[in-house]
Amino acid sequence: MKSLWRRIQTLPRRVWFVAAFVFFITCLSLAVLVSRDTPPAPATVPISQLLDMADHHQISKVVIVSNTLYATGTDGQQYQTTKEEQQTVTEQLRLDGVVVTVADGAGRSVGLSSLAAFVPLMFILAVIWFMMRRGGPNNQVMSFGRSGARRYSGDARPVTFDDVAGVEEAKQELAEIVQFLKYPDKFRSMGARIPKGVLLVGPPGTGKTLISRAVAGEAGTPFFSISGSEFVEMFVGVGASRVRDLFRQAKRHAPCIIFIDEIDAVGRHRGNNVGGHDEREQTLNQLLVEMDGFDLNTNVIVIAATNRPDVLDQALLRPGRFDRRVILDPPDINGRRAILEVHARSKPLAPGVDLAAIAQQTSGFSGADLANLLNEAAILAARSDKEAIGHEELEEGIMRVVAGPERRSRVVTEYEKSIIAYHEVGHALVMKSLKHSHPVQKVSIISRGQALGVTVQAPKEDSYLTSRAQLTARMASLLGGRAAEELTFGDVTTGARQDLEAVADLARRMVTEFAMSELGVIATPTRDGGSLSGAVAADVDREAMRLIDEAFATSRAILAERRGKLVEIAEHLKLVETIDGKELDRLLGPEWTFFG
Ligand code: ADP
Ligand code: MG
Ligand code: ZN
Repeated sequence: MKSLWRRIQTLPRRVWFVAAFVFFITCLSLAVLVSRDTPPAPATVPISQLLDMADHHQISKVVIVSNTLYATGTDGQQYQTTKEEQQTVTEQLRLDGVVVTVADGAGRSVGLSSLAAFVPLMFILAVIWFMMRRGGPNNQVMSFGRSGARRYSGDARPVTFDDVAGVEEAKQELAEIVQFLKYPDKFRSMGARIPKGVLLVGPPGTGKTLISRAVAGEAGTPFFSISGSEFVEMFVGVGASRVRDLFRQAKRHAPCIIFIDEIDAVGRHRGNNVGGHDEREQTLNQLLVEMDGFDLNTNVIVIAATNRPDVLDQALLRPGRFDRRVILDPPDINGRRAILEVHARSKPLAPGVDLAAIAQQTSGFSGADLANLLNEAAILAARSDKEAIGHEELEEGIMRVVAGPERRSRVVTEYEKSIIAYHEVGHALVMKSLKHSHPVQKVSIISRGQALGVTVQAPKEDSYLTSRAQLTARMASLLGGRAAEELTFGDVTTGARQDLEAVADLARRMVTEFAMSELGVIATPTRDGGSLSGAVAADVDREAMRLIDEAFATSRAILAERRGKLVEIAEHLKLVETIDGKELDRLLGPEWTFFG
């Protein structure tokens, strides 16, 4: 049941649309049918009365269905009655001038209602026909057995390695694959075994799809792309046949690349869900069968992408399958700069724009985020009729990626504006007071996306490890908003909801994942859950609470002591709406020190 529901939830939007449409039409036809075909409930009368009425010419029409008589009076009134079995009243009624019809079976006035019943059916048939007509081989709904893969080849301008930046090692490893595809004979004559499968591992937006297309582009081969979730999305038994079909197609177009995105959707290790997921297992098995079936001359390379290599079935990773792994990390500062340069190629930048500075401010951004940032900046520049993209647009691009577009149209009262200002400055002051906090880049009370105000922090440099001191500073900073509200207004608002969620999450992870509490190193549940025993779970909660309490106490103490600055800067923020990092430093003054 659960898996069925999950499957329903993952249906593509188009299927939902069609289903909703069919449902709507069916309801509509039913409504029409019911409203027009149900006569007012007939009055049940004794047969004697009906015959009397017929005598007095008060009955115009009678329909007889086995022993039941449905009569219509001359005034339109409906009557119903039952006659004795085997008795016929037809002759008598006829003599009274009544029109008598004998219907067999269940229906009366069968003609109209059966016609009406066909209406929804015809609609449904029309919808299906319409979908089939539109459905080429790519149509997800109708291409049952077909692979549903999209094929890219002979693009106007193929993607090349030049379009991919910041992942130099991955590029080097994949350059080898390009050689295999281009000159298979060279390797074969050396007796080298050509890899069949490459697994790209990396978080979303790091360029897994892009780099796979670049491999195809560099080698000049077709590229078949499908996502793991598409294999298993709809009808039982479709996944395996899709796999078969995909490989058949690919072999016809060899040399070529098959790209399977989100392979974890099919490739999760088998057998941990008793009874469930037969469909996925069949699909996975078929995939393994196909890859094993490649002979030495099959010049097809399967590239798969995932951000969860830990959940993959071991069978996928055996030699001769996805035995090569290429890791795509989120870009470091140089990588970010290189990616920005790639995407800025086609965009006019104003003189003096420093992409290195932008790279510095975008720690934690993925390649996709950076592409997005430049695109937002380009849109802004075009909208304000500029000749080129300036620093201002790029800054706003960053904010849009971080927190969504500005929503100046959201009207807040003066009082709310005040609360938001104190809340945000509360965050900022706690950040500025703790040594292990990242620098503050911007404080703003202009709402963006879901947030009413934002305080943006960015690390000075990329780091791969986070210390306990940094995490506790982060918790205190997150609680700074709530603490400032409490201190200033003596009351608190719902505005801190997201902060509180983030704090709770962080505290839990500190206890269970990072072993940074007094519980020490405990048997930690993995990302997938796993269960703690009841007693340990209670300890975890207690420790998490303690961490949160401590963090809250820190931010309260900071703001109580530095209340003067809180008021001064919050009042200023109400006027100017946005303060950047430099301005904040100026407002804090040269005497500003860390707390404690
Ligand atoms: P993934 O498949 O890893 O989720 P994508 O390949 O779909 O990521 O990346 C989405 C977009 O982000 C790409 O089309 C590209 O514009 C940009 N992008 C991501 N990584 C890079 C990169 N390393 N170099 C250049 N652009 C990138
Ligand atoms: Mg992708
Ligand atoms: Zn907040």
